Amino acid sequence: MVFDVHVHLFPPDVTRNIEKYTCRDPFLAEICSSKGHKFATVEDLLAEMDKCGVEKTAVSGFASSDPGLCREMNDYILEAARAYPRRLIAMAVVSPLDRMMERELDRALKRGARGVGELFPWGQAFALEGDAAKRLAFYCQERNLPLLLHLNEKVGHHYAGKGDISIEEGAAFAAKFPSLPLIFAHWGGGLCFYELMPELKKQLRNVYYDIAASPFLYSRNIYRVVREIGILDKILLGSDYPLISPARYLRELDESGLAPNEISRIKGENAARLFSLNDE
Ligand SMILES: [Zn+2]
Repeated sequence: MVFDVHVHLFPPDVTRNIEKYTCRDPFLAEICSSKGHKFATVEDLLAEMDKCGVEKTAVSGFASSDPGLCREMNDYILEAARAYPRRLIAMAVVSPLDRMMERELDRALKRGARGVGELFPWGQAFALEGDAAKRLAFYCQERNLPLLLHLNEKVGHHYAGKGDISIEEGAAFAAKFPSLPLIFAHWGGGLCFYELMPELKKQLRNVYYDIAASPFLYSRNIYRVVREIGILDKILLGSDYPLISPARYLRELDESGLAPNEISRIKGENAARLFSLNDE
């Protein structure tokens, strides 16, 4: 199975009136004004999935610090997943600083959401060590809901969306909530390499890493490096579509030097286990 865990869709209504939203959310404004930014609808995604041979996708909207925009995003994503239940899994977005966060999560779960994210601690201005993140973590941990969080490397070139969230914060968050299923996006900003340290391996035992934006960040040797580290079971295909097509990752994986059975774990088997698809 090919299962992409990291995709962002925008409701066409929001895209058409984007200025109305960007003036309320400076992080959204930054993302939308960046050179590589694209908008995609559910129809665009389904066409791309068919083209690339992706069977399932966990779809997110855009996590804003504006709860109203999060709700609008969730409505669109939930409806899409309901219309295509065999292809799409809905991820809910919320602002942890919103005092009504739990209510929005309850609403999204009732309508079929099966995970939360991608949330941007830096872009949405909440600290992973703060109380808001703690409430979110308890909510997800209690329900065994995968939580997809943006982490990025703090070295290297700048790009829109790159913030000053650190791998220390990510590691400390995972340690505080050991049974919370976490997906750290973008190879966890490099946190995955620290799984070479036995104490970190233990601390990060419920952490998965997606490979979103990898072609922009790392050479394809990274796949053999994580095999050497012994964490192939924790690596998930995440494309960040429409930023990059899943096809590019699938090609990279085929040329990574990994064995076919190792590639299939990254392409979808790990994600199927995480989202309990095998029990269905
Ligand atoms: Zn991200």
